Amino acid sequence: MLTIYEDVPSGLLQCEATELHRILPGPSLIHLPGERADPLFISVLLHGNETTGWDAIRAVLEQYREKTLPRALSLFIGNVRAARHSLRHLDDQPDFNRIWKAEGHSKEEAMVRQVLEEMRERNVFACIDIHNNTGHNPHYACVNRLATPFFQLARLFSRTVVYFLKPDSVLSMAFADICPSVTVECGKPVEQSGVLHAQDFIQSALQLDHLDEQSMSVKDIDLFHTVAVVKLRHDVNGSIDDESAHVQFLPDIDLMNFREIISNTQLARVRHGVGMPLVAENEFGKDVADRYFELSNGWLCNTTPVMPSMLTLDMDIVRQDCLCYLMERLDLDKTLST
Ligand SMILES: [Zn+2]
Repeated sequence: MLTIYEDVPSGLLQCEATELHRILPGPSLIHLPGERADPLFISVLLHGNETTGWDAIRAVLEQYREKTLPRALSLFIGNVRAARHSLRHLDDQPDFNRIWKAEGHSKEEAMVRQVLEEMRERNVFACIDIHNNTGHNPHYACVNRLATPFFQLARLFSRTVVYFLKPDSVLSMAFADICPSVTVECGKPVEQSGVLHAQDFIQSALQLDHLDEQSMSVKDIDLFHTVAVVKLRHDVNGSIDDESAHVQFLPDIDLMNFREIISNTQLARVRHGVGMPLVAENEFGKDVADRYFELSNGWLCNTTPVMPSMLTLDMDIVRQDCLCYLMERLDLDKTLST
């Protein structure tokens, strides 16, 4: 399933994400040489509708057409088929950022094992996986380890850093066993500012000499820990504008992302007889919705202060992925000293 290249296929950089399928038969790994031998691994389009990563890396590679990269680079272009249709994934495909445990027998998981093996053999320097989201969110980096090199890499992108352990089948988690690794969230795909930010980040990471405990101190980081993934119950339908839906969310809930929401804030109207419409899975897979939410006179409210991220108004995303994540603030100094 994986095609490996040792240079950029002709015409590739001129392609929009929707056109990559004309040149690439499917998931592709492109190894490019650089002055420093250990490659920076960059992943784009794991979600076919999240185009910022591709637009950023093609602009960077354009700049190095006539000169050598400061560091070798291995570019992974993920879900080419879904990108053709501007979709997160196709109905007959798994979510390409939920397959990196790679324990199963699917062709996608075999492909994942091959990518990880290739990069381990090449002594990968660091890993960056570039994404977009749909709601109103700041740009932020995610880590799956509380360790200085991971924070150093994340801080190059943003002072807002999210630590999470679930879902545990994401690319950055698999790479965390091999090298410092981050997922970066660059806002909505249509925003040019996200492309420029990702471009700057890739340039900075390419210039890095090393990432270790001594190379630079980590400071000025707002660190959050994801404590639960919130989904709609399978038998419940949600909407923003349809009053007949089981759950009707307020039309501006995504403005609550990365804000501390005080207790008893109304989030959605819930039709009589539906009951608690949300499932909030903690890191151990236990449903803790009752710890955070309650129904009060037909309204869904939070019972304790919460800080959501990735709250979205896009009900397709809610069905395919989740409604939001809940986070708590972590003290960076305490985190690194323990
Ligand atoms: Zn994504």
